[in-house]
Parts: sequence; structure tokens; C-alpha cells
Amino acid sequence: MLTCEIVSVGTELLLGDILDTNAQYLSQQLAAMGIAVLHRATVGDNAARLAETVRDALSRSDIVLLTGGLGPTADDLTKEVCADVMGFALERDAQTVEEIRAFFQKRGMPMPESNLKQADLPVGATVFPNSNGTAPGAAMERGGKCVILLPGPPNEMRAMFEQSVQPFLRQKTTGVIVSHTVRTMGIGESALAERVAPLLAGSNPTVAPYAKQGEAMLRITAHADTPQDAEALIEPVLRQIRGTVGEYIYGIDVEDIQHAVVQALRERGLHLATAESCTAGYISKRITEVPGASDVFDCGLVTYSNEMKEKLLSVRHETLQAHGAVSTETAMEMAAGALRVSGADIAVAVTGVAGPGCSEQKSVGLVFIGLADADGVTAVKLETGRTDREYNRYVTASRALHLVWQRLQKM
Ligand code: AMP
Ligand code: MG
Repeated sequence: MLTCEIVSVGTELLLGDILDTNAQYLSQQLAAMGIAVLHRATVGDNAARLAETVRDALSRSDIVLLTGGLGPTADDLTKEVCADVMGFALERDAQTVEEIRAFFQKRGMPMPESNLKQADLPVGATVFPNSNGTAPGAAMERGGKCVILLPGPPNEMRAMFEQSVQPFLRQKTTGVIVSHTVRTMGIGESALAERVAPLLAGSNPTVAPYAKQGEAMLRITAHADTPQDAEALIEPVLRQIRGTVGEYIYGIDVEDIQHAVVQALRERGLHLATAESCTAGYISKRITEVPGASDVFDCGLVTYSNEMKEKLLSVRHETLQAHGAVSTETAMEMAAGALRVSGADIAVAVTGVAGPGCSEQKSVGLVFIGLADADGVTAVKLETGRTDREYNRYVTASRALHLVWQRLQKM
């Protein structure tokens, strides 16, 4: 398997002025191509430190991919440094000079002379045209090692990667990498990892647990000659995972819980309504992020005050008096009310204490979720154990969506 390292060049990255999105993009692309990314580094616009970083990377890996520092200004020195490290001479390329002149002419802009520095190309390198800018990229190969230069601006870098670098690298790789992500909710990352522990030791496919706000996932990755062979390696592992933690799985390779909910509603031809207190529209926002949500989503009511819970959802005054707004009883009446006023097939309602302070003498992170459909009304209690308002709102919305999804599986 080919090994690779990514070096992001630019002092602005070290200062935190911009986020290194290039490295994230390249990591994803390379992994998908079956190239192992072993290290990532960030270096400022400094020739000595850049040279040291590139030499280090070349001593370990087959390919070093750099982004940034191909611009026309004096601080852009990636090409100069890398040509020096690889023992390539730079020579002004007449055709590239013409392309740069044409680029400026087309835009009706005068060309600063310094731009021609970008036409200095390493002799004997593979040159990659830049369809969104003036700095070409290049690949310098020597002694089984390869240094690839890409521009810093993400739109230029991505276009060049897709159009030129990917085909260039494909000639060097054998096989494919296939991965699938198992999404779960209702079980923590470490508990999930424990349940599938024997699988985590495997090397092909690998199984890796990871967590995202309020949910846990397993990524299964296989390396093989063909996609079919990779799928065949994954299949038995996936079957074992389903066997051990199937009850928590809400989807494989799905984008998120709201996509799973919209799809489940659509498959059954059912409609959803929401009534939200502490999340104040977060659930309906997430549902309507999914294209085509209008086919399955009827209405979302935000009933923040007790008065509106009574007026719009017919929550009884006595219920609020006796149990408070944050209670099983209120959550159930809210869900029943939402089902009634909307005429939907299923309604979910949430009421809770988002924090950071508490209300009604109830602890922060205490939430009740009501669910109503033709079969009746139920409610569950959620305790997030956190005082972070944003986290509590997000996780409440996720759990509510998950409850809807679970109920739909039985409908
Ligand atoms: P450069 O090629 O170093 O002149 O970079 C030009 C511009 O591209 C920078 O000012 C950034 O806005 C952007 N850029 C450079 N490197 C990165 C990176 N690693 N991630 C995202 N944007 C970048
Ligand atoms: Mg720069």
C-alpha cells in the first residue's frame, strides 16, 4: 500500500487565521483511493523549516503532498524548496508564461511581473494545469519517491486534485478501499466498542469506533483488489455487528438521524408533526434540512410558554400546575395535542431544561419526550447530565428524532 504525508504550507495556518481545510479534503480523498496517510504537518513560510519537514516526510513515506506557497509573492517558496530537496532545476516555461498572460487578459486585469515566477517549473516534472488560477502544480519523482505540489486556495487545489492528481496517483495504486459507517444511538462509544471488541483487532477489514455529539459510530474499512472483493470482506463483519448491537443501529452510510427519519416516513407514506418547548424548533429545523421533507413533515409548533402549551396544544392547566411544564404528563399532552391539531400520523414533543440554569427546581439536562400516534401516547425521560445549553438542545433533538425512527420501524 502506498504511503503518503500531507504538508500544509503557510504562516496564516500556524497563526490560526485560516482553517486547514485542504488537509482534511486530501486526507479523505487519499484514504478513499487506498493511499495510507501516515502524517500531516503544518509549516510556515520558512525555507529551512519547510525543507526539513519535506526531508523528514520523504524519509518515511512514498509520497509527500504539499498545498500552499505556490503564489507569486516572495513568501511563496514551496516550489523552490521542494525542487532543491528533490534535486530538480527550475526553468521558465514559455507556454505557462502565455497561459498566465492570457489568464489576466481574459479578466481585463494588468499582470504584475512577479506573477511570472509561477511559470518557473521543475525540469522533468509532471505539470498539472490550474483551471481556476495561475499557479500550476507539479509532481517531482526520483528514487521511488514523489513530491506533489498543489496551490493553497481550496477551489484551485480541489479542481487540480480531481482533474490531474487523482488520475496521476491512480496509475500508482493497486486495489481499492471501501468503507461503511454504522450509525448508532442510545449506546455510548465505549460501551459500543466493548460489545464489538473482538472485531476491533481485525486488520482487513478494520473496525474503528468513534463518537459524534450524542451518538456513536463504527467505521468498517476493507482493502482489496476490487470493490466486490472489499464488500465480500466487509459483509461477515457487518453481519456480526448487526448481531451484537443491531438494536442501536439506525442506519448504515446514512447522513444523519434526520435523513433516516425522513426516509422512514416516506417509505411508509406517513406524516410527522412536532411540538417543541426547550428545543424551540431545532427538531423541525433538522427535519427540514433534508431535501423533500415537505412530503412527510406537516407542521412544527414551538410552544415555549405554558400559556401557548395550553392554547395551541390543549395541555391542561391542571397538568401544568400539578406536574410542571417539564414532566412526563406535559410531554404526553403536548404530543397528543400536536397529533390532534395537525392530523399527522405521528407527533413528537419535547419539554426540558436546556440550561445552563435550572427552572421549576428541576435539574439541568432533564428532558421529557412525548410520542403520539394512532396507537396511543408514550413518553421517555432523558437526562443528559450536562449544563451546556447548545449540547442539551442538540442531543434532545437527536433523541426525539431517534424515538420517531424507532417507532416507525414498528409501523
Ligand atoms: P498560498 O498558495 O500559500 O499563497 O495560499 C493562498 C491562499 O489559499 C491562502 O491565503 C488561504 O486563504 C488559502 N489556503 C492556503 N492553504 C490552505 C489550507 N491548507 N486550507 C485552506 N485554505 C488554504
Ligand atoms: Mg502562502
